[in-house]
Amino acid sequence: MIKLNVIGDPISHSKSPDIHGKILDSLNIAYEYDKVLVKKGELNKYISNAIKNNITGFNLTMPHKVDIIPFLKEIDNNAKLFDSVNTVKIKNGELYGYNTDANGYIVSLNENNFKPNGKNIVILGAGGVSSTLAVKLSLLGAKNITILNRTLDNAKKICEKVNNIGETIDSDIKTIVSYDSIETQTIKKYSADCDLLVNATPLGMSGIDRDFEDLSFLNNLKKDVLISDLIYNPEKTNFLANAENNAYKIMNGYGMLIGQAILADEIYLGTNLNISELYTKLVKNY
Ligand code: NAP
Repeated sequence: MIKLNVIGDPISHSKSPDIHGKILDSLNIAYEYDKVLVKKGELNKYISNAIKNNITGFNLTMPHKVDIIPFLKEIDNNAKLFDSVNTVKIKNGELYGYNTDANGYIVSLNENNFKPNGKNIVILGAGGVSSTLAVKLSLLGAKNITILNRTLDNAKKICEKVNNIGETIDSDIKTIVSYDSIETQTIKKYSADCDLLVNATPLGMSGIDRDFEDLSFLNNLKKDVLISDLIYNPEKTNFLANAENNAYKIMNGYGMLIGQAILADEIYLGTNLNISELYTKLVKNY
């Protein structure tokens, strides 16, 4: 029996127990998965209890993804790169930190037969996830990444991060990163020639009463472009519905959500899982 938690504040809305439950049920693995409300500054207390109660590991959401770092015995390269931890495994009373968010997105790209190497990519939005994806996609050899955002300074910071990453990990990154505003005309200009267009803003998300006012930038893209929305509620945003009407391939954020959870479960179980089979069962045939 493995014992897992997801911790954060707020936590009642978390879908993690359902998602991990689906994966672990389909693997016939006995588990307990509980949501635990842990307020900022209370990690110490939670960790002592988790060790005492033989918790196998835990997922983290706001506000703990950075605060957990000083408590770790080891942090994996992805988590170090993004300064953010979403998965912790406890072994012999010590904590090991990982980040499966970006690789979860890469799982969903793989399952849609999209390889970032040599591709032109446009990302709308310059928040936490945009930054993580820009770094990962550049490490996977994207040719160009353009970040379009409301606050230009936030997009500029991501470009600087990608440009500095080569030095941090001693790797030769050749991606050309640039940024601009998120006006319809600029989206049109940069996306006309792109292979992957990602919405990493909350525009169109359920419960947010803001959406793209003009989706005409979706009218003249390359025939084989992949249109990706990180939102999974609703299942099909207006952005994706419009893209589908234009006969482009679309992908919502559910695959990323499942992908990052499968990778976290591999860590908890200490074994390689058949990612493609699980993805097909939980996303494609869902
Ligand atoms: P975030 O850090 O809050 O960043 C949001 C970004 O959207 C910022 O660049 C912000 O621009 C922009 N934005 C917000 N409101 C806007 C508006 N009205 N008009 C134009 N731009 C606007 O969010 P995040 O954590 O990166 O998440 C981004 C999206 O990914 C969300 O929709 C979230 O639900 C989704 N997500 C999905 C998964 C998954 O597993 N599928 C995981 C995490 C997140 P400024 O810089 O100007 O503020």
